[in-house]
Amino acid sequence: MPGYEMWGAEERREVEDVLETGILMRYGFDGPRKGRWKARELEEALCRRTGAARAQVVSSGTAALTTALAALGVGAGHEVIMPTFTFVASFEAVLSVGATPVLVDVDDTLTLSPAAVRAAVTPSTRVVMPVHMCGSMADLGALTAICKEKGLLLLEDACQAPGGSWQGRALGTVGDAGCYSFDFVKTITCGEGGAVVTSSPEVARRCDQYADHGHDHTGVDRGADLHPALGYNFRISELHAAVGLAQLRKLDGFLEIQRRNKRALRETLERVPGVTFRRIPDPAGDSASFLSFFLPDEARARAAAKAMQAAGIGAMYWYDNNWHYVRRWDHLKSAASPYPVPAPLREALTVLAARPFPASDAVMSRAISTPIALGWTSEQLGERAAKLAAAVGSVG
Ligand SMILES: *Cc1c(COP(=O)(O)O)cnc(C)c1O
Repeated sequence: MPGYEMWGAEERREVEDVLETGILMRYGFDGPRKGRWKARELEEALCRRTGAARAQVVSSGTAALTTALAALGVGAGHEVIMPTFTFVASFEAVLSVGATPVLVDVDDTLTLSPAAVRAAVTPSTRVVMPVHMCGSMADLGALTAICKEKGLLLLEDACQAPGGSWQGRALGTVGDAGCYSFDFVKTITCGEGGAVVTSSPEVARRCDQYADHGHDHTGVDRGADLHPALGYNFRISELHAAVGLAQLRKLDGFLEIQRRNKRALRETLERVPGVTFRRIPDPAGDSASFLSFFLPDEARARAAAKAMQAAGIGAMYWYDNNWHYVRRWDHLKSAASPYPVPAPLREALTVLAARPFPASDAVMSRAISTPIALGWTSEQLGERAAKLAAAVGSVG
């Protein structure tokens, strides 16, 4: 899955372009930058690749989610429905704008269960935030229908799924806004970086301001910009954007390799009795950064993950993971924070700490993901497929 495997001359050339002028900032310095605008170029390239009308490149995926929530007008008193299986960043972003995260169960898509979403809607709900985990998409048909019916916003956390699609539309562009991460281990990387995409010029304008201290970016002189609203610094540097430009050009090549490698592993694993696979609402749009599958029960899933690790095959057993699955989010459930958390959010964390998620547990305790690398030779791929099948098959 990670673009860092394919770092090369293309990335170096883009970075050199920036180093030559020494203008590392994305705004201003129009003369000395000699027409080089890497962040702006990356935004244009993202629009072309995803079909989004507007893109705002920022300093991380977490910053992108925070910026998108703010730009969508989400904050104090609003509930954001999100899945129990995600990366803590989605949760952190909701807290950071003062909104209340409401976790709901995942199903065999490993992302939001539409039935659980429907049951969780209250008069305070403002946003449904599916997280396209491990490269594959949530059930966007059912989720968009719920949002339309209930008058809710859809914000896609597509941080793990750049390049994926649903019914021919890029993941991230189906909802009111979508976010990508370009951190170092994502499908394409800037080192650190992220982006918000949206079809709304108004949301895009607010993103542009929020990510840069509220600057309106309308003047020729940055010092004379007006500040229509509150904002923070979530800017990306030109150096990071330059890396992302080169990586984005490679995205389709990465997807092709991932899909081929994933298919080979899956075809071998299909022959192992008892193994079932994650349901993917639109298999053609899978970005294929992971292969995710189920064992019949927790004991066998644990044993299979252990056997895979012993054979040198990456095995993510998310059920025990303290970043990605709510069961082990101890620091969040205890509201451990360097500063006192506002009372309503503290209350929400207390509710979360007390809440069991048996339906999610039933799915996640049986699930394993294995990452799909770009750099395997066909020999290594064949060897890996055989080892994977043997390890998983060994648990009976
Ligand atoms: C990586 C990730 C993020 C955050 O991205 P960063 O660039 O690391 O801040 C958010 N959500 C999900 C699902 C992610 O995997």
